[in-house]
Amino acid sequence: MNRSPFSRGAGGILLPRYLQWTGAGLLSVAVVMAVFAGVRRPQALGVQPAAEPQQIETLTIATPTVELPPLVVDPPVEGIPRLASLHTEIPERPNYKIVQYTVEAGDSAWSIARQFNLQPESILWGNNWINAEAGSLQIGTVLNILPVDGVLHTVGEGDTLERIQLLYGTPIEDIVAYPGNNFPLEPPYELTPGQKIIVPSGQGQVVWQEPGPKVVAGMGRKSPGLYDGPLVYTGTGYFIWPIAPPIVITQNYWGAHPALDMGTYYRQPVFASDAGTVIFSGWSEWGYGNLVIIDHGNGFWTYYAHNAFNLVEAGQGVLQGQQIAESGSTGNSTGEHVDFRIRVDGGSFLNPLDFLPPKP
Ligand SMILES: [Zn+2]
Repeated sequence: MNRSPFSRGAGGILLPRYLQWTGAGLLSVAVVMAVFAGVRRPQALGVQPAAEPQQIETLTIATPTVELPPLVVDPPVEGIPRLASLHTEIPERPNYKIVQYTVEAGDSAWSIARQFNLQPESILWGNNWINAEAGSLQIGTVLNILPVDGVLHTVGEGDTLERIQLLYGTPIEDIVAYPGNNFPLEPPYELTPGQKIIVPSGQGQVVWQEPGPKVVAGMGRKSPGLYDGPLVYTGTGYFIWPIAPPIVITQNYWGAHPALDMGTYYRQPVFASDAGTVIFSGWSEWGYGNLVIIDHGNGFWTYYAHNAFNLVEAGQGVLQGQQIAESGSTGNSTGEHVDFRIRVDGGSFLNPLDFLPPKP
């Protein structure tokens, strides 16, 4: 007896199953047809040996009533639902992780903070090796960018959550609950030396170096390194912008940067903001490059830092608007700019925007 049709029928069942495994759902129709054929043929063959006319007749009648085996879809093909979408939307997921950012030309802690929607202090507090304000940023410096405003604390030997709370003022509950810290849901909370802990809303310290010679408390320009001879001109009491427009502020006045940075081109003229006497013109020990300090003789000093060249000398009188330097990027700087400061004689650094006319 020729059994090849039966074999072919059995094969007909196996083949579609295999194809279904590959997910070719469209072949389902073909499966049904093949299964149907596979079932019919063996039945026909199995009946033939009996060869009784009655049975043949029965067969003829029975054929349409043959039950199809249930269509087994293995694994179930469920299709892939798709919505017609004309554009891709990146969902806004909360980010709990620290990312790394490489400082580029023209960057400041302030501008980087703005890019990541953080306070500029958080740039310092995420990188505790930055000691002196944003001035220590260099092109290529790799910074930790915190996911939230706060402090990145590295656990030391014997550190406790109580101590971290005391240091930065963030309650322990908030520290352990912060998802990026991966603390368990319940205590005990283990701290391992070297572990980095994000302290959300934590307040660290802001340390920055005064440009130029240090003013000794109460000594003003009698401090070592500053010109202490007779003053030449007295200021008008009104300040003008130290560079010509357009003015592009690259770093505003903030806690660790009591100054106003303005982007310039190389060797752009820098002008005295008011009349006065130069009390320092030279190299800053603290990363401010070529620096000019003017005493206006009325209780105010102004500072101009990172110059390519200083054009004045200590003891020299300058008039308001007189060119005193050519701007540059000397000292710790990521691009050509002027770092401009207004200071109470030997005291606090004030926000220049409170004294300058509206930005031209
Ligand atoms: Zn600056």
